[in-house]
Amino acid sequence: MAEFLITTDLRKILHVDIDAFYAQVEMRDNPELRNRPLIISRDPAETGGRGVVATANYVARALGVHSAMSAVEARQLAPEGVFLSPNFKKYRQVSKTIHHIFHTFTEKIEPVALDEAYLDMTDSHLSGASIAAQIRHQILKETGLTSSIGISHNKLLAKLGSEFNKPNGVTVITHDNMLSFLAELPIGDFRGVGAKTKAKFSALKVENGLQLRQLPKETLRGLFGKMGENLYWQTRGVHFGEVQWQRQQQSVGKEATFRYFIHNEIDVHKAFKQLANEMIAALKVKQLTGRTLNIKIRDDAFNTITRAITRETPWPLSETLITQTAQSVFEEVIQTPFSVRLLGLSISNLQSSTFEEMTLF
Ligand SMILES: [Mg+2]
Repeated sequence: MAEFLITTDLRKILHVDIDAFYAQVEMRDNPELRNRPLIISRDPAETGGRGVVATANYVARALGVHSAMSAVEARQLAPEGVFLSPNFKKYRQVSKTIHHIFHTFTEKIEPVALDEAYLDMTDSHLSGASIAAQIRHQILKETGLTSSIGISHNKLLAKLGSEFNKPNGVTVITHDNMLSFLAELPIGDFRGVGAKTKAKFSALKVENGLQLRQLPKETLRGLFGKMGENLYWQTRGVHFGEVQWQRQQQSVGKEATFRYFIHNEIDVHKAFKQLANEMIAALKVKQLTGRTLNIKIRDDAFNTITRAITRETPWPLSETLITQTAQSVFEEVIQTPFSVRLLGLSISNLQSSTFEEMTLF
Protein backbone atom coordinates (compact mmCIF):
# COMPACT_ATOMS: atom_id res chain seq x y z
CA MET A 1 0.00 0.00 0.00
CA ALA A 2 2.71 2.41 0.99
CA GLU A 3 4.67 1.70 -2.19
CA PHE A 4 1.55 2.59 -4.15
CA LEU A 5 1.19 5.89 -2.29
CA ILE A 6 4.81 6.83 -2.97
CA THR A 7 4.42 6.74 -6.71
CA THR A 8 1.26 8.81 -6.65
CA ASP A 9 2.93 11.74 -4.92
CA LEU A 10 3.23 14.15 -7.83
CA ARG A 11 4.20 17.29 -5.95
CA LYS A 12 7.10 19.50 -7.01
CA ILE A 13 8.92 20.63 -3.88
CA LEU A 14 12.15 22.62 -3.80
CA HIS A 15 14.44 23.10 -0.84
CA VAL A 16 16.63 26.15 -1.34
CA ASP A 17 19.62 26.80 0.89
CA ILE A 18 22.39 29.38 0.59
CA ASP A 19 25.82 27.80 0.96
CA ALA A 20 27.49 28.69 4.28
CA PHE A 21 25.30 31.78 4.38
CA TYR A 22 26.95 34.11 6.92
CA ALA A 23 30.44 33.15 5.76
CA GLN A 24 29.54 33.66 2.13
CA VAL A 25 28.14 37.13 2.82
CA GLU A 26 31.36 38.10 4.60
CA MET A 27 33.53 36.72 1.78
CA ARG A 28 31.43 38.59 -0.74
CA ASP A 29 32.07 41.83 1.14
CA ASN A 30 35.73 41.08 1.72
CA PRO A 31 37.14 38.81 -1.01
CA GLU A 32 40.46 38.48 0.81
CA LEU A 33 38.69 36.10 3.16
CA ARG A 34 37.86 33.65 0.38
CA ASN A 35 41.01 31.59 0.56
CA ARG A 36 41.38 31.61 4.31
CA PRO A 37 39.54 29.55 6.91
CA LEU A 38 36.70 31.85 7.93
CA ILE A 39 34.80 31.14 11.11
CA ILE A 40 31.71 33.15 11.98
CA SER A 41 31.99 33.34 15.73
CA ARG A 42 33.36 35.69 18.29
CA ASP A 43 37.10 35.21 18.63
CA PRO A 44 37.67 32.86 21.59
CA ALA A 45 40.75 34.90 22.49
CA GLU A 46 38.47 37.87 23.18
CA THR A 47 35.73 36.01 25.00
CA GLY A 48 37.88 33.99 27.36
CA GLY A 49 37.20 30.84 25.36
CA ARG A 50 33.45 31.08 25.20
CA GLY A 51 31.42 31.14 21.99
CA VAL A 52 30.09 28.76 19.44
CA VAL A 53 30.65 28.60 15.69
CA ALA A 54 27.63 29.94 13.78
CA THR A 55 29.00 28.82 10.45
CA ALA A 56 32.31 28.47 8.62
CA ASN A 57 33.41 28.72 5.01
CA TYR A 58 34.38 25.61 3.05
CA VAL A 59 38.10 26.21 3.61
CA ALA A 60 37.51 25.96 7.36
CA ARG A 61 35.11 23.04 6.92
CA ALA A 62 37.85 21.13 5.11
CA LEU A 63 39.83 21.41 8.35
CA GLY A 64 36.96 19.90 10.32
CA VAL A 65 35.32 23.10 11.57
CA HIS A 66 31.53 23.00 11.65
CA SER A 67 28.63 24.98 13.05
CA ALA A 68 27.66 24.52 16.70
CA MET A 69 31.26 23.57 17.53
CA SER A 70 32.93 25.51 20.34
CA ALA A 71 35.04 28.39 19.12
CA VAL A 72 38.04 27.07 21.05
CA GLU A 73 37.86 23.78 19.22
CA ALA A 74 37.58 25.61 15.92
CA ARG A 75 40.68 27.62 16.80
CA GLN A 76 42.61 24.40 17.44
CA LEU A 77 41.54 22.96 14.08
CA ALA A 78 42.20 26.20 12.21
CA PRO A 79 44.96 28.12 14.00
CA GLU A 80 45.28 30.46 11.00
CA GLY A 81 41.55 30.96 10.84
CA VAL A 82 39.86 34.33 10.77
CA PHE A 83 37.16 34.78 13.42
CA LEU A 84 34.40 37.24 12.62
CA SER A 85 31.49 38.13 14.87
CA PRO A 86 28.17 37.61 13.11
CA ASN A 87 26.56 40.72 11.67
CA PHE A 88 22.92 39.74 11.87
CA LYS A 89 21.69 43.10 10.68
CA LYS A 90 23.47 42.57 7.40
CA TYR A 91 22.36 38.93 7.09
CA ARG A 92 18.73 39.87 7.69
CA GLN A 93 18.94 42.42 4.92
CA VAL A 94 20.32 39.86 2.45
CA SER A 95 17.72 37.40 3.67
CA LYS A 96 14.96 39.83 2.77
CA THR A 97 16.20 39.96 -0.80
CA ILE A 98 16.39 36.17 -1.00
CA HIS A 99 12.87 35.65 0.34
CA HIS A 100 11.61 38.34 -1.97
CA ILE A 101 13.02 36.36 -4.88
CA PHE A 102 11.19 33.26 -3.64
CA HIS A 103 7.95 35.23 -3.67
CA THR A 104 8.41 36.06 -7.34
CA PHE A 105 8.16 32.31 -8.02
CA THR A 106 5.35 31.26 -5.68
CA GLU A 107 3.43 32.24 -2.56
CA LYS A 108 3.72 28.68 -1.26
CA ILE A 109 6.88 29.21 0.73
CA GLU A 110 7.81 27.71 4.06
CA PRO A 111 10.70 29.76 5.47
CA VAL A 112 13.06 27.61 7.52
CA ALA A 113 15.84 30.07 8.23
CA LEU A 114 17.22 33.38 7.02
CA ASP A 115 18.76 31.61 4.05
CA GLU A 116 16.57 28.56 3.64
CA ALA A 117 13.05 27.69 2.53
CA TYR A 118 10.79 25.08 1.00
CA LEU A 119 8.85 26.08 -2.10
CA ASP A 120 5.86 24.13 -3.37
CA MET A 121 5.94 24.57 -7.15
CA THR A 122 3.46 21.81 -7.97
CA ASP A 123 1.26 24.26 -9.85
CA SER A 124 4.05 25.38 -12.17
CA HIS A 125 4.21 23.94 -15.68
CA LEU A 126 8.00 24.30 -15.67
CA SER A 127 10.29 21.48 -14.63
CA GLY A 128 11.76 21.61 -11.14
CA ALA A 129 15.26 21.77 -12.63
CA SER A 130 14.35 24.75 -14.76
CA ILE A 131 12.79 26.59 -11.81
CA ALA A 132 15.86 25.81 -9.71
CA ALA A 133 18.15 27.23 -12.39
CA GLN A 134 16.12 30.45 -12.48
CA ILE A 135 16.06 30.83 -8.69
CA ARG A 136 19.79 30.21 -8.38
CA HIS A 137 20.51 32.65 -11.17
CA GLN A 138 18.33 35.33 -9.59
CA ILE A 139 19.86 34.88 -6.13
CA LEU A 140 23.36 35.10 -7.57
CA LYS A 141 22.46 38.17 -9.61
CA GLU A 142 20.81 40.07 -6.77
CA THR A 143 22.94 39.02 -3.80
CA GLY A 144 26.16 37.62 -5.29
CA LEU A 145 25.63 34.39 -3.36
CA THR A 146 25.57 30.77 -4.49
CA SER A 147 22.87 28.42 -3.31
CA SER A 148 22.01 24.74 -3.47
CA ILE A 149 18.62 23.33 -4.35
CA GLY A 150 17.07 19.92 -3.95
CA ILE A 151 14.00 19.04 -5.98
CA SER A 152 11.65 16.18 -5.34
CA HIS A 153 8.08 15.18 -4.61
CA ASN A 154 8.38 15.69 -0.87
CA LYS A 155 10.16 17.88 1.66
CA LEU A 156 12.35 15.12 3.04
CA LEU A 157 13.88 14.27 -0.34
CA ALA A 158 14.13 17.94 -1.37
CA LYS A 159 16.10 18.69 1.80
CA LEU A 160 18.36 15.66 1.42
CA GLY A 161 18.87 16.71 -2.19
CA SER A 162 19.97 20.24 -1.40
CA GLU A 163 22.47 18.89 1.13
CA PHE A 164 23.79 16.29 -1.30
CA ASN A 165 25.27 18.62 -3.90
CA LYS A 166 26.50 21.38 -1.67
CA PRO A 167 27.91 23.92 -2.38
CA ASN A 168 26.47 25.46 -5.53
CA GLY A 169 24.60 22.41 -6.75
CA VAL A 170 21.24 21.05 -7.79
CA THR A 171 19.91 17.57 -7.11
CA VAL A 172 16.75 16.18 -8.64
CA ILE A 173 15.37 13.14 -6.86
CA THR A 174 12.66 11.37 -8.82
CA HIS A 175 10.54 8.33 -8.10
CA ASP A 176 12.96 6.39 -10.30
CA ASN A 177 16.25 7.34 -8.64
CA MET A 178 14.93 7.87 -5.10
CA LEU A 179 15.67 4.40 -3.73
CA SER A 180 19.19 4.24 -5.13
CA PHE A 181 19.88 7.76 -3.83
CA LEU A 182 18.70 6.79 -0.35
CA ALA A 183 20.58 3.46 -0.45
CA GLU A 184 23.94 5.20 -0.70
CA LEU A 185 23.18 7.91 1.83
CA PRO A 186 25.34 7.67 4.99
CA ILE A 187 23.23 6.84 8.02
CA GLY A 188 24.17 10.13 9.67
CA ASP A 189 22.46 12.08 6.88
CA PHE A 190 18.98 10.81 7.74
CA ARG A 191 16.80 13.19 9.77
CA GLY A 192 17.18 12.81 13.50
CA VAL A 193 20.27 10.61 13.46
CA GLY A 194 22.74 12.20 15.85
CA ALA A 195 26.05 10.92 17.16
CA LYS A 196 24.39 8.58 19.68
CA THR A 197 22.03 6.96 17.19
CA LYS A 198 24.81 6.72 14.65
CA ALA A 199 26.97 4.81 17.13
CA LYS A 200 24.12 2.40 17.84
CA PHE A 201 23.69 1.78 14.13
CA SER A 202 27.43 1.33 13.75
CA ALA A 203 27.32 -1.47 16.28
CA LEU A 204 24.62 -3.10 14.12
CA LYS A 205 26.82 -2.60 11.03
CA VAL A 206 24.27 -0.21 9.57
CA GLU A 207 26.20 2.53 7.80
CA ASN A 208 23.92 3.58 4.94
CA GLY A 209 20.33 3.78 3.73
CA LEU A 210 20.37 0.38 2.05
CA GLN A 211 21.42 -1.37 5.25
CA LEU A 212 18.86 0.69 7.15
CA ARG A 213 16.13 -0.41 4.74
CA GLN A 214 16.84 -4.04 5.50
CA LEU A 215 15.84 -3.65 9.14
CA PRO A 216 12.21 -4.55 9.86
CA LYS A 217 9.96 -1.81 11.14
CA GLU A 218 9.46 -3.66 14.44
CA THR A 219 13.21 -3.87 15.01
CA LEU A 220 13.66 -0.16 14.39
CA ARG A 221 10.73 0.71 16.61
CA GLY A 222 12.11 -1.54 19.34
CA LEU A 223 15.51 0.13 19.14
CA PHE A 224 14.61 3.77 18.66
CA GLY A 225 10.88 4.10 19.34
CA LYS A 226 8.98 6.53 17.18
CA MET A 227 12.15 7.81 15.55
CA GLY A 228 12.95 4.25 14.47
CA GLU A 229 9.66 3.97 12.66
CA ASN A 230 10.28 7.38 11.13
CA LEU A 231 13.62 6.07 9.78
CA TYR A 232 11.83 3.06 8.31
CA TRP A 233 9.80 5.46 6.15
CA GLN A 234 12.68 7.84 5.48
CA THR A 235 14.79 5.14 3.83
CA ARG A 236 11.80 4.39 1.57
CA GLY A 237 11.47 8.06 0.65
CA VAL A 238 8.04 8.41 2.23
CA HIS A 239 7.12 11.79 3.69
CA PHE A 240 3.77 13.51 3.50
CA GLY A 241 4.47 16.81 5.28
CA GLU A 242 3.05 19.79 3.42
CA VAL A 243 4.92 22.99 2.70
CA GLN A 244 3.57 25.18 5.49
CA TRP A 245 2.99 28.46 3.74
CA GLN A 246 1.19 31.46 5.14
CA ARG A 247 -1.68 32.46 3.01
CA GLN A 248 -0.79 36.03 2.24
CA GLN A 249 -4.24 36.97 1.24
CA GLN A 250 -7.21 36.32 3.48
CA SER A 251 -9.89 37.00 0.93
CA VAL A 252 -10.56 38.13 -2.62
CA GLY A 253 -13.56 40.31 -3.27
CA LYS A 254 -15.16 43.45 -4.56
CA GLU A 255 -17.27 46.22 -3.05
CA ALA A 256 -19.41 48.85 -4.68
CA THR A 257 -20.52 52.09 -3.05
CA PHE A 258 -23.51 53.71 -4.67
CA ARG A 259 -23.70 57.44 -5.11
CA TYR A 260 -27.46 57.10 -5.46
CA PHE A 261 -28.71 54.65 -2.88
CA ILE A 262 -30.35 51.50 -4.19
CA HIS A 263 -34.01 51.02 -3.37
CA ASN A 264 -35.21 48.09 -5.47
CA GLU A 265 -34.29 44.43 -5.84
CA ILE A 266 -33.62 44.60 -9.56
CA ASP A 267 -30.74 47.02 -8.94
CA VAL A 268 -29.50 44.87 -6.06
CA HIS A 269 -29.45 41.87 -8.37
CA LYS A 270 -27.64 43.84 -11.06
CA ALA A 271 -25.04 45.03 -8.57
CA PHE A 272 -24.42 41.54 -7.17
CA LYS A 273 -24.09 40.18 -10.68
CA GLN A 274 -21.44 42.73 -11.53
CA LEU A 275 -19.59 42.17 -8.24
CA ALA A 276 -19.69 38.39 -8.74
CA ASN A 277 -18.32 38.83 -12.22
CA GLU A 278 -15.40 40.98 -11.08
CA MET A 279 -14.66 38.79 -8.08
CA ILE A 280 -14.58 35.65 -10.21
CA ALA A 281 -12.24 37.33 -12.69
CA ALA A 282 -9.88 38.31 -9.85
CA LEU A 283 -9.99 34.78 -8.40
CA LYS A 284 -9.19 33.29 -11.79
CA VAL A 285 -6.21 35.57 -12.28
CA LYS A 286 -4.86 34.55 -8.87
CA GLN A 287 -5.78 30.89 -9.47
CA LEU A 288 -7.67 30.86 -6.21
CA THR A 289 -11.00 29.70 -4.97
CA GLY A 290 -12.38 29.31 -1.48
CA ARG A 291 -14.99 27.72 0.70
CA THR A 292 -16.55 30.84 2.24
CA LEU A 293 -18.66 33.41 0.43
CA ASN A 294 -19.01 36.69 2.33
CA ILE A 295 -21.83 39.08 1.62
CA LYS A 296 -21.72 42.64 2.91
CA ILE A 297 -24.61 45.09 2.92
CA ARG A 298 -24.52 48.66 4.26
CA ASP A 299 -27.56 50.89 4.41
CA ASP A 300 -27.89 54.68 4.24
CA ALA A 301 -27.57 54.88 8.05
CA PHE A 302 -24.22 53.06 7.91
CA ASN A 303 -25.56 49.89 9.47
CA THR A 304 -23.47 47.06 8.11
CA ILE A 305 -24.65 43.48 7.85
CA THR A 306 -22.31 40.68 6.86
CA ARG A 307 -23.17 37.06 6.23
CA ALA A 308 -20.80 34.21 5.47
CA ILE A 309 -21.77 30.95 3.81
CA THR A 310 -19.20 28.20 4.05
CA ARG A 311 -19.40 25.09 1.94
CA GLU A 312 -17.71 21.71 2.35
CA THR A 313 -15.98 22.20 -0.98
CA PRO A 314 -14.80 25.42 -2.66
CA TRP A 315 -17.38 27.66 -4.25
CA PRO A 316 -17.69 27.01 -7.96
CA LEU A 317 -16.73 30.18 -9.77
CA SER A 318 -20.22 30.52 -11.18
CA GLU A 319 -21.65 34.00 -11.60
CA THR A 320 -25.24 32.71 -11.53
CA LEU A 321 -24.80 30.67 -8.36
CA ILE A 322 -22.96 33.41 -6.47
CA THR A 323 -25.38 36.13 -7.59
CA GLN A 324 -28.42 34.09 -6.63
CA THR A 325 -26.93 33.17 -3.26
CA ALA A 326 -26.14 36.80 -2.49
CA GLN A 327 -29.59 37.87 -3.62
CA SER A 328 -31.38 35.39 -1.39
CA VAL A 329 -29.22 36.37 1.59
CA PHE A 330 -30.14 39.98 0.89
CA GLU A 331 -33.84 39.21 0.80
CA GLU A 332 -33.53 37.25 4.01
CA VAL A 333 -31.83 39.96 6.06
CA ILE A 334 -33.14 43.21 4.56
CA GLN A 335 -36.71 44.37 4.87
CA THR A 336 -38.46 46.58 2.38
CA PRO A 337 -38.40 49.45 1.95
CA PHE A 338 -34.62 49.76 1.95
CA SER A 339 -31.92 52.20 1.03
CA VAL A 340 -28.56 50.56 0.37
CA ARG A 341 -25.32 52.47 -0.05
CA LEU A 342 -22.82 49.59 -0.31
CA LEU A 343 -22.75 45.95 -1.41
CA GLY A 344 -19.77 43.64 -1.26
CA LEU A 345 -18.85 40.08 -2.15
CA SER A 346 -15.72 38.20 -1.22
CA ILE A 347 -14.41 34.66 -1.04
CA SER A 348 -12.28 33.59 1.91
CA ASN A 349 -10.83 30.31 3.18
CA LEU A 350 -8.81 30.52 0.02
CA GLN A 351 -7.05 27.69 -1.69
CA SER A 352 -5.37 27.33 -5.01
CA SER A 353 -7.78 26.28 -7.72
CA THR A 354 -6.90 23.36 -9.92
CA PHE A 355 -7.11 23.53 -13.65
CA GLU A 356 -10.31 21.47 -13.61
CA GLU A 357 -12.06 23.85 -11.23
CA MET A 358 -10.98 26.78 -13.36
CA THR A 359 -12.41 25.44 -16.57
CA LEU A 360 -15.53 23.77 -15.23
CA PHE A 361 -17.50 27.02 -15.14
MG1 LIG B 1 22.43 27.52 4.50
